[in-house]
This record gives sequence, structure tokens and C-alpha cells, in this order.
Amino acid sequence: MSPFSSSSLGNQQRVAILGGGPGGYEAALVAAQLGAAVTVVETHGLGGSTVLTDVVPSKTLIATAEIMATVAGSTELGVRFPGGGTSDRQAAGSVTVDIGRVNQRVKALAFAQSQDILARLEKEGVRVLSGRGRLAGTEAIEVVEGEDAGERVAADVLLVSVGARPRTLPDAQPDGERILTWKQVYDLEELPEHLVVVGSGVTGAEFANAYDALGAHVTLVSSRDRVLPGEDADAAEVLEEVFRRRGMTVMSRSRAESVVRHGDSVTVTLADGRTVEGSHCLVAVGALPNTEDLGLAEAGVLTTDSGHLEVDKMSRTSARGVYAAGDCTGVFPLASVAAMQGRIAMWHALGEAVRPLALRSVSSTVFTSPEIATVGWTQAQIDSGEAQGDIVKLPLATNARAKMLGIHDGFVKLFCRSGSGTVIGGVVVAPRASELIHPVTLAVEKRLNVDDVAHAFTVYPSLSGSVAEAARQLHVMSD
Ligand SMILES: Cc1cc2nc3c(=O)[nH]c(=O)nc-3n(C[C@H](O)[C@H](O)[C@H](O)COP(=O)(O)OP(=O)(O)OC[C@H]3O[C@@H](n4cnc5c(N)ncnc54)[C@H](O)[C@@H]3O)c2cc1C
Repeated sequence: MSPFSSSSLGNQQRVAILGGGPGGYEAALVAAQLGAAVTVVETHGLGGSTVLTDVVPSKTLIATAEIMATVAGSTELGVRFPGGGTSDRQAAGSVTVDIGRVNQRVKALAFAQSQDILARLEKEGVRVLSGRGRLAGTEAIEVVEGEDAGERVAADVLLVSVGARPRTLPDAQPDGERILTWKQVYDLEELPEHLVVVGSGVTGAEFANAYDALGAHVTLVSSRDRVLPGEDADAAEVLEEVFRRRGMTVMSRSRAESVVRHGDSVTVTLADGRTVEGSHCLVAVGALPNTEDLGLAEAGVLTTDSGHLEVDKMSRTSARGVYAAGDCTGVFPLASVAAMQGRIAMWHALGEAVRPLALRSVSSTVFTSPEIATVGWTQAQIDSGEAQGDIVKLPLATNARAKMLGIHDGFVKLFCRSGSGTVIGGVVVAPRASELIHPVTLAVEKRLNVDDVAHAFTVYPSLSGSVAEAARQLHVMSD
């Protein structure tokens, strides 16, 4: 609890934070806990894009999609729906989604979460200003637009955590109705009849999967050989196979050049001249940092060619007293990493003992059906010789619990150092892989070896039994 009183301000450190996403608000909580006088300047709402337009809304939409995917896969388990037949497609077709209601829920949940964060910050004594801010040198932030325009916040420590926004294509300008960014889909009142998703990275794959499960016909346009080019190749292959089996059209090596709306339809034109017609198009081709017009150069804060702020592992920028966190640094575009960078900045600035940011044990998930969760070194790094290690891959199809649940797709993959058996990474492709990856993350973080993992009890029958089994198999290999 920060004693935010004028009597203590004399020797109290002053912290000013630009941006109220996880990079900013988690930093504010740490700084307040350490007794600083903290001000956050935020343009849109506390929680940032994470809470209002990106993570929370997309995962809430995906929660409904997940139920629909479960329905579609339930006929094998003997479940029947009125009017539905005995195939997955018939089951899915007998249940519909009210997308207007889904989107209302999404927006209400995001708003409530943002309000909770605001209430928490206020309870901890953090001052919140509303408007667009910029640095005024290295010792103040000024609010230049919005409700609190004209305010100038002098501070000993500054943190820039302004996030990123969707990149668009010059010839595919979003109109918020038919040509959409990922922030605009929640205003849809009707489910798109045919959604063309341009971009097959994590965001494109998650939305393609979700709308397919919700009942839209989906075409996924990918400029690369396969979906999820940045992920484990075996995992991406499983997902692409599942997408095609469900009836999604996946177009690989197809670069979209333009998207044009004609009334109620859209035409996506590819670089080779082919066209794809749809009712809506979602453009998911990456993000750009919100670092323009922030007074960075004047304050001596260096940025990269891509516009990201240069930071070290303590979140320090090139300007003394100015720190940065989150997507605007381009370090690792995850809410969890943004929050950790923000906390590290404050621990460092306010004199706490602190460990530099370690990305070794960051776990992340692609929220598709099945989910793809990863942590640590990758197989690509082992195959290329960048990392040294042994690999075991166990298909879930042999797991007793998976059989009972009707799970046919997915696997557990574990990587360990040859000789020592130290666990260095893993991949889980399964329903709720986001939860199943945790024991692997613990092993990587605590440098456990495969025998440590293998000797811990797992429930029988359980999907996590496959993690222990993979560890057992690696023991045999490393002998
Ligand atoms: C569709 C989608 C789904 C995602 N899902 C996940 C997921 O499941 N898990 C995960 O870990 N990550 C996920 N991510 C990534 C995650 O959203 C980002 O890594 C995270 O938002 C970064 O947090 P941040 O604090 O850097 O920025 P943000 O959350 O974007 O917050 C930055 C804030 O700064 C404010 N701001 C900008 N400029 C100014 C200014 N000049 N003055 C005042 N305020 C300003 C903005 O209004 C914004 O509120 C997803 C991303 C997308 C696009």
C-alpha cells in the first residue's frame, strides 16, 4: 500500500508511466508497493489492448468456439442432438451460436476487467490520468490530448509501455464492417458467412479456428508453406491437418495483395492474380509499435529500424531514468512478458534486488483446437545445432485418457540435454495444452532432469501421464 500523502512526498520517488496495459499497470502496482508516488497516463482504458481488444476478448470468443468444437467432436462419445445426426458435421450443424450475444459478453467482460484494474490501482494510491501522453525530456510526461490534457507529471523514473497496433496492408484498409482488424470483430452482429483470414501467424490461426468452430466457412490465406511458420513444425502440421479435415480452406504460398469491398462481399486478390471471394475479411498481418510522436528522440531514447524501443534485460532504455516494457520493445509479444518487464523496471529503478529478464522459461500458447503450448528451446534449434539435446515425441493417441475423451490429434514432445538429461523445453498439442505445459515450464525453470519429472506421480488416467512417459523414455535414451 503506497502512503500517497504530501508529507512523505519529500523523499518519495516519483514514477510516471505511459500506457496502462500489463507492462504499465503491473509496474505501477510494484512501484506503489515499494512506496513510490505513481502516475499512469492512459489513452483508452486500464488493462490496455490486452484487456480491451486483444487477449481478453479473443480468449473469451474462443471459449465459445471451444464449446462448439467439443459439441462437434461428441458424436463419437454417443452424444446426440435434436435434429443432429451421427457425424461431427451434423452435430455441429444442429447447434448454433448467437454471435451478437457472444460479442456482448466479450465486451462486457473486457470492460469489467478494465474497471477491476482501475479500482485496484486506485486502491493502491496510483493516480490515473486519461489522455495521450508523451515524454517531456527524461524527467516528465505531459498529457497532450484527452480529458487530462495540459497535465505535466514530473518524475524521477519514467516507464514507456505504449503497446502496438495492427499492421494493415496499403491496399486492404479496414472499414470496420467487412474488412476488419482483430480489434473490430467484436462489433459483428451476424456470423460471417465466409470469412477470409489473411495471415496465418498466431492471431490469424486463432481467429480462423474460432470462426470455423462457430459455424462460419473460413478460408485461411497464408503467404508461407504452412500455417504458424514460427511454431513447432510438427504442431503446425497437426493443426493444418485438423483445419482441412474440418472443412476449412487453407491456401499456402498465397500472398494477399489487396482486399476490396463490394457491398456485402469482399474480394481478396493474391500476388499471383488469383482471387478469393468472401463475405468478410480479417487482416492479421502483424503489429506496429505505438512509438510515433512520443518525444523519444528528444529524450535520447533510441529506437530500432522497426520503431521498437531498445531495452536491456533490466528494461532500461538508452536514456538514464527512462525504462520501457511490453510490445513497444519488441522483445516477446506476450502479456506475461510485458508484465515482467514492467515489474523488473520498477524493482531495478527503486533499488530492489532483481534478476535480469530471462526468456528461457517463457511458456506460450496458440489457442486453437487443439491448443499448441511451448516452452524453452525448440526442435528447430536442436536440429540446426544451435542447442544440443535429445527429443522424444509421444502421440496422444496412445494415452488412455485421450482415448476415453475421443482425442485423436496431438502429442507431447520433450527436449533434454544429452548426458545430463536436464529438461530444456517442450511442446504440448492437446485440448488445454495451456495448462498441461506447466510441469514442463517448472522443469525448465528449475533445471530439473528427466528423472525428476518421471518420478513425480501423475494421475491415472490423465493427459499429463504422457509428459511423465516422455521423460521416462528420455532416460532410456540418455543412458
Ligand atoms: C489478438 C491477440 C491475442 C493475443 N493473445 C495473447 C494471449 O493469449 N496471451 C498473451 O500473453 N499475449 C497475447 N497477445 C499479446 C498481448 O496482447 C501483448 O503482448 C500485450 O498486449 C502487451 O502489453 P503492453 O502493456 O505492451 O501493451 P498494451 O496492452 O497494448 O497496452 C498499451 C497501452 O498504452 C496505451 N497508449 C499507447 N500510446 C499511448 C500514449 N501516447 N499515451 C498514453 N497511453 C498510450 C494504449 O492505449 C494501451 O492501453 C495477443 C495479441 C493479440 C493481437
